[in-house]
Amino acid sequence: MAPGGGICKDVIESRVTFAEYDMATSSAELRGSPLRKAATSLGGNLGATSTNDVHELLECPVCLNLMYPPIYQCPNGHTVCSICKARVHNSCPTCRNELGNIRCLALEKVAESLELPCRYQILGCHDIFPYYSKLKHEKNCRYRPYHCPYAGAECSVTGDIPFLVMHLKNDHKVDMHDGCTFNHRYVKSNPHEVENATWMLTVFNCFGRQFCLHFEAFHIGMAPVYMAFLRFMGDEDEARQFSYSLEVGGYGRKVIWQGVPRSIRDSHRKVRDSQDGLIIQRNLALFFSGGDRQELKLKVAGRIWKEQ
Ligand SMILES: [Zn+2]
Ligand SMILES: [Zn+2]
Ligand SMILES: [Zn+2]
Ligand SMILES: [Zn+2]
Repeated sequence: MAPGGGICKDVIESRVTFAEYDMATSSAELRGSPLRKAATSLGGNLGATSTNDVHELLECPVCLNLMYPPIYQCPNGHTVCSICKARVHNSCPTCRNELGNIRCLALEKVAESLELPCRYQILGCHDIFPYYSKLKHEKNCRYRPYHCPYAGAECSVTGDIPFLVMHLKNDHKVDMHDGCTFNHRYVKSNPHEVENATWMLTVFNCFGRQFCLHFEAFHIGMAPVYMAFLRFMGDEDEARQFSYSLEVGGYGRKVIWQGVPRSIRDSHRKVRDSQDGLIIQRNLALFFSGGDRQELKLKVAGRIWKEQ
């Protein structure tokens, strides 16, 4: 069975322009701050007023984050979180008195008795958590915003899937295609210069969900390679319900990859570095391209299906 063979009418073509795709050195995983920023703005969404007041008491006056034990106080009773305590050189940020090492056990106990909604409540999470397990939950809350899957220039946009789909379409001008089979042609003149920096993104709508097909050139050790892989726009437990295949070939030879799409919770860089996709050595890619090896012309046929 040849995935996509004969079913897909139109061949999608991408012309790779290397200058446009500047792979940022920082990985998406390091972009904690946009998520934190988004999350902080959602954080004030608490139910009862009394909880709100206590919530304010638990806010560190310096970093404005919620405090966790050990919580410190100055002789006048002003509180500060342990991280900021180390930064303020033992001087109370509120009254400038010497801080010392006085724990505020009462506030720590109050915190323990609190139950707070997940900070992603307005994104759909309705769970309530004891104060000290709230943070742990929020790190893995399935309603937490996703990072933009576009891997090129720094993009700090976060949001839910429908929002990110619109964002990819409007702001990154990503090609969107309907269908679970595809034939995608990657064309690049001058494949011998470059590398480590090229990539393409195409999004497929299939089973009512979205899949990101990444294609890029980089080096494994000294060897120049091309790699194609699929990421699922959703969480990992859902991604595992799908499989996909990619194949590329020519002149009677063929390379086939079958895999499971990775969730976009895993950064583009992480998936690439784990080599979880179709990898083609440049020499083979040029052989498949035919001609005089001066132009890369790779046709990648693919299929996405749902596992039973
Ligand atoms: Zn602090
Ligand atoms: Zn003080
Ligand atoms: Zn949650
Ligand atoms: Zn983006």
